[in-house]
Amino acid sequence: MPAPSHGTPLEVLHRVWGYDAFRGDQAEIVDAVVAGEDAVVLMPTGGGKSLCYQVPALVREGTGVVVSPLIALMQDQVDALSALGVRAGFLNSTQERDQRRAVEDAFLAGELDLLYLAPERLRVPETLALLERGHVALFAIDEAHCVSQWGHDFRPDYLQLSVLHERWPDVPRVALTATATPATHREICQRLQLEDARQFVASFDRPNIRYRIVGKDDPRRQLLQLLRAEHDGDSGIVYCLSRASVEQTAEWLVRNGVAALPYHAGLDRRVRAENQSRFLREDGLVMVATIAFGMGIDKPDVRFVAHLDLPKSVEGYYQETGRAGRDGLPSTAWLAYGLADVVQQRKMIDGSEGDAEHRRRLTQHLDAMLALCETVDCRRVQLLAYFGQPSDGPCGNCDTCLEPPESWDGTVPAQKLLSTVVRLDQRGQRYGVGHVVDILRGKETPRVRQLGHEQLSTFGLGADLSDGEWRGVVRQLLAAELLAVDTQGYGTLRITPASADVLRGEREVRLRREPERTGRATRERRS
Ligand code: ADP
Ligand code: ZN
Repeated sequence: MPAPSHGTPLEVLHRVWGYDAFRGDQAEIVDAVVAGEDAVVLMPTGGGKSLCYQVPALVREGTGVVVSPLIALMQDQVDALSALGVRAGFLNSTQERDQRRAVEDAFLAGELDLLYLAPERLRVPETLALLERGHVALFAIDEAHCVSQWGHDFRPDYLQLSVLHERWPDVPRVALTATATPATHREICQRLQLEDARQFVASFDRPNIRYRIVGKDDPRRQLLQLLRAEHDGDSGIVYCLSRASVEQTAEWLVRNGVAALPYHAGLDRRVRAENQSRFLREDGLVMVATIAFGMGIDKPDVRFVAHLDLPKSVEGYYQETGRAGRDGLPSTAWLAYGLADVVQQRKMIDGSEGDAEHRRRLTQHLDAMLALCETVDCRRVQLLAYFGQPSDGPCGNCDTCLEPPESWDGTVPAQKLLSTVVRLDQRGQRYGVGHVVDILRGKETPRVRQLGHEQLSTFGLGADLSDGEWRGVVRQLLAAELLAVDTQGYGTLRITPASADVLRGEREVRLRREPERTGRATRERRS
């Protein structure tokens, strides 16, 4: 096949992709890389990062080498490029020896415009030798945040990538990511020796996405209500934490008249591929999935992304919700979150492999996510601030802007709750939320009687709040680390060093008012 390359970037864009113009920073980035400069590109999902290295790879002599961790997508990427007449290939561990050989030969013969490489390939000396024998036009480092040890998606193989600069000092490099807090951005520049590179930071705002985070009550019903009221017949993605809940939720939605399909890594390969291609092809399907679904999925008209479980980090939340509304039309990002999510995530962190440092990082990620859930201010302002980006005041297109939540002084209830926990602790006893709330509300349950807890001085002191309100208080105290939960055993409550300030009356506790959910709140699953 003849080279589709040569000409100006704009000519290549027209001829190969059939697009009229570059978007946003694309033209400037392409020009910089074509001119041999290094670049760091932070651009949200759907912003058009691929063209930032694909076009220069076609314009410059030689092959553009793309390092990407998304091995599962390489075949699709190469197929899509081939369909446009671009000569592309990939090298990763899934290939047979002779497949690999064919790609290597094409590269050495100068017959490839783009070569995709899994990062672990660069650990293999033969790969470096191969690259040295061919002609590299540029290096693109995709998903560059994987180099950050502080990030949510660290991949040790990315640390090797500094070798590119050392061995090919004259070949331009472009590092790209859709997730970058200021700290991650700094780390990318340091670890990849891109401090002197041109920096391109696009806005991370997705103005057409309406962010909504609601208290979890009966999440599937809440979701169904949302779909019926606002997204009838729309395409959307519903994220669940576990494979089991993916399957149950998909079945439940189907029983309730929603065209839903499941997707998770445990499904048969063919079923998974079939469901994915139906979702892309057909209108109005709802994909119920674990976060394994969505990387590299380019469906412009996803009208909503719903989370039935709390994401582990703001980065993850942003990335997943970012799959909504790529076409710029109004879309919804909806998340239901509750007390059980906080307990479960803290449990997962405590039970996770890795050292204390690693757990501390996970905790920080979770805390930032919880802060976003509990805020009484504009969600978008908070989200953008997390990515180090300024905003011009409240957005008017998120739940807190549209229906400002009231906050209230929860200091006294917090004190009642914490002192109940302290009193139990003094007796050498620890209990879960349900029992503690029963004590506060003065419920003489068999368990309360059996344990003699109606004798506690805080018994019945909290009859002014409902079960649901108390659970809201507990959740928010957990989120603020004014209360902790034993994550090894039964989810029992204990105080934290910061609780003392509240108990002494030295710290005010502002809480978000829980919306009225009469009757149903008490049915919330006990954790
Ligand atoms: P990212 O990698 O940043 O998530 P992609 O590179 O996959 O984004 O691009 C997202 C979509 O936008 C793709 O369908 C792509 O073809 C399209 N696109 C990118 N740049 C342009 C452009 N200049 N004109 C038209 N469409 C574009
Ligand atoms: Zn807002």
